[in-house]
Amino acid sequence: MGKEQRDFGLTMIVGPMFSGKTTELLRLLGRYKMAGYSVALLKPSIDKRYSNREVVSHDGLKMEAIVIEPNYSGLANVLKNLEDVDVIGIDELQFFEPELTTVDLILRISLQKKVYVAALNLDFKGEPWEIVKELLPRADEIISLQAVCTYVDPNTGKKCGAPATRTQRLIDGKPAPRDAPRIMVGGRESYESRCRRHHEVP
Ligand SMILES: [Zn+2]
Repeated sequence: MGKEQRDFGLTMIVGPMFSGKTTELLRLLGRYKMAGYSVALLKPSIDKRYSNREVVSHDGLKMEAIVIEPNYSGLANVLKNLEDVDVIGIDELQFFEPELTTVDLILRISLQKKVYVAALNLDFKGEPWEIVKELLPRADEIISLQAVCTYVDPNTGKKCGAPATRTQRLIDGKPAPRDAPRIMVGGRESYESRCRRHHEVP
């Protein structure tokens, strides 16, 4: 917008599912919108959850998103058309192919404008996503979010309630095995937030 100063830098929002990453991303972007800056939100095409064109957080916040192929050329092509945009948000970075060119591109763009990237910290096995692992230590700012462990002790029937940093995948209510596919889009029926004590990968 006009001749106003433009913020720059890369902020990453990381955590397990149900830690409020998308809510935080939409909140941070929304501030710039209210200040009159132009904002674009990008999301990988693999995430069909809730809506194809909108990013919707678990608590119902929403913003229109540009759906892109989750790889370097998908990102590069759309960024070419967003030169006048002041602030870029990228949701679900973990779904992008692990190309170092994508990491470089995000770092380069964040020298010109403010970029917010939300990503899962770990996959359901508790292992890092390559692209997140490469980008995270290079970010200017990291917002690390925790969820709440919803493991229920079978003996007492009580919920754990500790801070959760892991995403538990469930198949018919049972922990998913280590050899299950890495990407499986789902909500509360197939995922729970868990603390490290209660994260299970049989
Ligand atoms: Zn727990």
